[in-house]
Amino acid sequence: MRRWLTPLLCMTVFGSATAQQPARLPDRGAAVVAAGRTFVFYSDPVFNLHDFLVWSTFSREPVEPAPDCLAGLPPEQRAAFEHAREHYKVLATPSGNALLLRLRYRLAGFGDFGSPDAVVEAALAELPPAAPAYEKCWWPAHDARNRRWIAALQPLLEANEDALSKRLSDLYGEDLGRPFPVDVVSYGTFVGADSVVNPDHLLVSSIAPANAGTAALEVVFHEASHTVFGPRLDGRLWTDLEAAAKADGAPLAPNFWHAMLFYTTGSAVKARLAERGIPYEQYLYTQGLFERSWPGFRGPLERLWQPYVDGRVPRVEALKQIVAAHKLPDRGAALVAASRTFEFYSDIVTNLHDFLIWNARSQEPVEPKPDCLARLPAEQRAAFEHARDYYAKTFANGANDLVLLSMRWRLAKFGEINLADAAQIAATVAELAPATPAYQTCWWPEHDARNRRWVASLLPLLDANEGALRARLAQLYGQELARSLPVDVVGYTTPDGGSPVLNPHQLLISSARPSSVGYSALEVLFREASQTIFGLRAPGPLWQALQQASTWAAKPVPEDFSRLLVFFTTGKVVQARLAEQGVPDYRSYVYREGLPERWSPAHREALERVWQPYVDGRVPMADAVKQLVEAFPPAPR
Ligand SMILES: [Zn+2]
Repeated sequence: MRRWLTPLLCMTVFGSATAQQPARLPDRGAAVVAAGRTFVFYSDPVFNLHDFLVWSTFSREPVEPAPDCLAGLPPEQRAAFEHAREHYKVLATPSGNALLLRLRYRLAGFGDFGSPDAVVEAALAELPPAAPAYEKCWWPAHDARNRRWIAALQPLLEANEDALSKRLSDLYGEDLGRPFPVDVVSYGTFVGADSVVNPDHLLVSSIAPANAGTAALEVVFHEASHTVFGPRLDGRLWTDLEAAAKADGAPLAPNFWHAMLFYTTGSAVKARLAERGIPYEQYLYTQGLFERSWPGFRGPLERLWQPYVDGRVPRVEALKQIVAAHKLPDRGAALVAASRTFEFYSDIVTNLHDFLIWNARSQEPVEPKPDCLARLPAEQRAAFEHARDYYAKTFANGANDLVLLSMRWRLAKFGEINLADAAQIAATVAELAPATPAYQTCWWPEHDARNRRWVASLLPLLDANEGALRARLAQLYGQELARSLPVDVVGYTTPDGGSPVLNPHQLLISSARPSSVGYSALEVLFREASQTIFGLRAPGPLWQALQQASTWAAKPVPEDFSRLLVFFTTGKVVQARLAEQGVPDYRSYVYREGLPERWSPAHREALERVWQPYVDGRVPMADAVKQLVEAFPPAPR
């Protein structure tokens, strides 16, 4: 049930209604199961039939198949159901999202907001004839499941809904005291629950494991919070957050607000339950969202935002602090230069660490200096050799990568973000200070000079191309690069010449590898930066479109292909830009390295025939991702 393990796309979608929230909810007769002051819950047979058909469309495996029951039906009932199921495949097309939104509002009784649309009417017309089969074969079990879920939530709501509604209205600065319509269904969405606003409508799965038990209380209030906090909304906390970020001049990470919403609502639910003696761990922690997606957000939220949630610090003060926490840390003289997008550092400890790793991971010693080491005081030499042996023992052959990831944030002064055993990270950090004098004497002057030369030669290229590359990449990936990405310039990093860590973002770029000198420096830099807006941990619009197309087509996007796609896309963009600037013969990294010859024919075909037109700006994103996924080999079943 992978789809419930990635609840990060739980985004707010806007209806197109221009009117405000209707004063009363639509009359939906017997579908109302429970109505309170904050939520009205429905278990509606037509909505659930629709949900079942949607689920069947997007699922790789047959959903709750009931062949015997279907076989026992009158042929016309069975045929009508099969017809509807076939018809719903229309949702797995680029216009499917818009259709899904309109169907949702229609089925929830809100009427239609767009112009009359034959596609919407055609889908709705499938439902009445398909209903008898659904009601016979699935509905009794689905309805019972929905009602059990609603019934289990009721006592929690009765005891806590007013207090929570009041508390969250205060925290978000906008009233949550309206009844929200909640359709309870089996599947719901890829993420188990979601919300649309204007008018507001919530959808919750009664079978998603993460929505079970006490968590149901957080889930419904989480979705309700989405109607007052997020982009384009005007709840006071949201507008104050935007104002604070603007005043500070440093933009927040793109998904930070969603982590903040998870944190705020989850903490309020936890605090309320604690008052009544009920232990509860919030969704962020039980589902491991910090670890999986937002490691850098944990510290600021726990340290600077919890006091606001507790009512100990005023909103304006807490917002100021949390916005400031996202500025880059002060790294003193290690800062070499800054551009609109990047801040470049040549830092002795980061470089020592990189040097030790590459010695640990390469066949031959890297830049050995036996004479220099021999001239050092014995304790300096011993400390350096101790560190070198420790790194060789710990990191050879790609071992302990999570320690290295955690070290990167640590050395870039982002604080203690631990993705691995804290003691092991501390032990590695402890090797560095004693080894520094030897490194400083024997290698650092040359390394630092090499890094600074690399930055100096890059700056005129950035001057000439940064704005144009930012604009082109923003079009292709669907999102602008942040400002002030920290770039640590080191000797070696990876064979590709660069690598990113995400949330908080930091790039490592090699000043010594041939793959990152001259014009290639520009490519390596923007390629690594592109991974801050395209990838599992930084899912920008292009990434999301690709995942959705891949889900619809039941063809997974292989991890290494996503990486290839970034290499290909950004490389081509840099190549095209340099050609405009009078550099006609620049070859992008993948071609220089002869990678296409090593790709599978399917990958090569997908990138060169299908994806190149998108990179050239000749095909819209929705069509391009669909064609790209079509060009993939089918998933092994
Ligand atoms: Zn959400």
